[in-house]
Amino acid sequence: MDSSTPLRTLDEISRGFDEALQQLSFVDIHVHDMPDCCGPELALLGPDAVIDYHYLYGEVLGGLGLRPSQTDAIWAMPRKERVDFLVEKSLADGCLPVSEARLGILSAAHALGLPTASGDFRNVLREWRTLYADMGPRKYTERVFELAGITRVVSTQSPFVEAECRLYLNDAVLENWDPRYWCGLRWDEFVHKPETAAGLCQGLMKAPEAAGPLSSERTVCAARRLLEFWADRLPNVKYVALSLPGTARLADRSSRITQCLEDVIVPVASERRMPVFLMPYVRRAINPSFRNAGDCVERGEINDLIDFMSRHTETLFAVTPLDENDNYPLAFAVRALPNVRVWGHWWGNLNPSLIEAQLRLRLEMNGYVHFGVNSDARIRDQLLFKWPHYLRVMKRVVVERCHDIAELSGWPVTVDTIRRSIQRLQDHERLFNPDAAA
Ligand SMILES: [Zn+2]
Repeated sequence: MDSSTPLRTLDEISRGFDEALQQLSFVDIHVHDMPDCCGPELALLGPDAVIDYHYLYGEVLGGLGLRPSQTDAIWAMPRKERVDFLVEKSLADGCLPVSEARLGILSAAHALGLPTASGDFRNVLREWRTLYADMGPRKYTERVFELAGITRVVSTQSPFVEAECRLYLNDAVLENWDPRYWCGLRWDEFVHKPETAAGLCQGLMKAPEAAGPLSSERTVCAARRLLEFWADRLPNVKYVALSLPGTARLADRSSRITQCLEDVIVPVASERRMPVFLMPYVRRAINPSFRNAGDCVERGEINDLIDFMSRHTETLFAVTPLDENDNYPLAFAVRALPNVRVWGHWWGNLNPSLIEAQLRLRLEMNGYVHFGVNSDARIRDQLLFKWPHYLRVMKRVVVERCHDIAELSGWPVTVDTIRRSIQRLQDHERLFNPDAAA
């Protein structure tokens, strides 16, 4: 079809969307996947890794009604055995994969050309393991990026996690860094685990002055220097990121969260013209026996966060709320505060029903002054399902909106205008660069 021909019916617009999409590839602005130079403990890929993840544990362990004393035996199993156990309790149970955790694994397998039509996941997994072993990590990675249509990702680097700190202080690791992986500097442990952070400041990081409470000017200056050190040391740092618990009160100057944000992160980020990525609000470990599957969303004070951002107009804040209720007030904040942008989805709200509701609201209220989607992928293979699942939602929303545009206004909807609009929605520069127009 001619890319400037006006498309009128839902069917024409739907085909036009597919054609526009074929011409595009994307940067994934927030993942937890790490480049291979970080080693097999941190760079996770392949069928066993994608199954052995909290998405499926959260469904299976909860469904089995396991008490804390019963989960120890599961965590003690070798990974392959644990994966086989999970599969027997989920994907091999003869029922349709209605949950996103199950469907995600199957659609990743489908993207790789594995025989999902057999309806026999034990067989799919056998073939998947063979495929992964035959291809090896390097070729497999190429295939994953190519199938997902992703050119680059922004990884998550937490220097206050000891294993990561050791890696990032090693020049050889940084020299072998895959250039497809940009860095997102995560400051959570410094803020939320001050004792662990103090140990690293005094030890590996050789910055003892940054340890301890941020009540003295000397400690604050040292903490700023440390943030600058990491922003310079890691390759292509795009932002500094922090998740917030629902208990955060950013008007309270005696809280470490406020001091870290206001005295350390905000001044350094604004001086360097680097955005601050905020992820409100999480509640960690309501059931520690489920490990990463034991976390929860938390109702927080979104007004408190909006007030904080309105007091720091020199800094660009890119916010992605976990609680869907926070989307509506944030859509207003984006309209009123030019230093606030809202982006993507993560964890619980990466489910299609929530993405759809949030995308509709943001398009209608914010136009292009919000950012489309990121995958939040921890396992490389998750790129294979998160992107197609999202794009399927985006197609529903955008096609319907384009149909409204064509019918209500007569404005020409074409392959070209659809492509430009998606490109703008996914334009990461609007988030990474405080001086870029939204
Ligand atoms: Zn994340």
